[in-house]
Amino acid sequence: MFYHDKKLMYDVKVDGADPQFAQLLLEQFGGATGELTAALTYWTQSFHVENRAIRDMLQDIAIEEFSHLEMVGRMIEQLTEKASGAVKDAAFKSTLFTVRGIGPHLVDSQGQAWTAAYVNEGGNVVRDLRADIAAEAGARQTYEALVKLAPDEGSKKALVFLLTREVSHTHMFMKALESLGKLSDPLFGNVRPDETVDLYFNLSKDGPLDMRGPWNSEPAFRFVERPEPQGQLPQDVENPDDERHGHHQAHGIETQRVETGVTREVNNPADQHQDFSRSASERNPIE
Ligand code: MN
Ligand code: MN
Repeated sequence: MFYHDKKLMYDVKVDGADPQFAQLLLEQFGGATGELTAALTYWTQSFHVENRAIRDMLQDIAIEEFSHLEMVGRMIEQLTEKASGAVKDAAFKSTLFTVRGIGPHLVDSQGQAWTAAYVNEGGNVVRDLRADIAAEAGARQTYEALVKLAPDEGSKKALVFLLTREVSHTHMFMKALESLGKLSDPLFGNVRPDETVDLYFNLSKDGPLDMRGPWNSEPAFRFVERPEPQGQLPQDVENPDDERHGHHQAHGIETQRVETGVTREVNNPADQHQDFSRSASERNPIE
């Protein structure tokens, strides 16, 4: 069950009307990196998390995100309310509030409707916590942009509080991953990776610009200087409905009927030019 406390989590007091900044703030109300996305992401994730302590954390943070959503909504309301009525000026008329009305709406700063596609969750606590760290990074970055654009000290103060909390959440999610031993271990789940797990493919190539670091060096990785395909040519496409340029029939290229009823050409040149004389290791020297 839910209770709602009418007091705000943190004061939001804006100095005056600024409908254009209010429209930018919609990014954190109904946008991809916004508070509704965060609240519904952590809330939804909490249902499938087995670990009770981590489930409790996700529920606490989800409710905090709803409190943030309320703060952002109040800010947008204040920034647009004061621009309505007698002071409905050109600035107000240039924003979506002039047709949608004052106060927040579940759209982003460009008027695009909020969508559940923003919610990143599903089935495994490590997968979810990693998505959550990325989500908090997005939220923090949007708040930084908004702090720089904030029209008054009151708005800036509230936005710095909101930015700070996203940093706190990031830390909590990292500690939760650490408690599972999954902060620095890339593996999770129940399927063993194959033998390519420690290969680094040098696929963007330019000699001295092929840079090295711990992400492509021993002991974690084997650097493959000149990667080559390990696979063969894919099967020829057989699509009886595709356009078969009349000349095939017209020029009498021999065809045969196979059991599937599909017509295919005999002596397909693609069947003949594969060279597998070198072994896979010769084609993929590993340093
Ligand atoms: Mn938040
Ligand atoms: Mn957060």
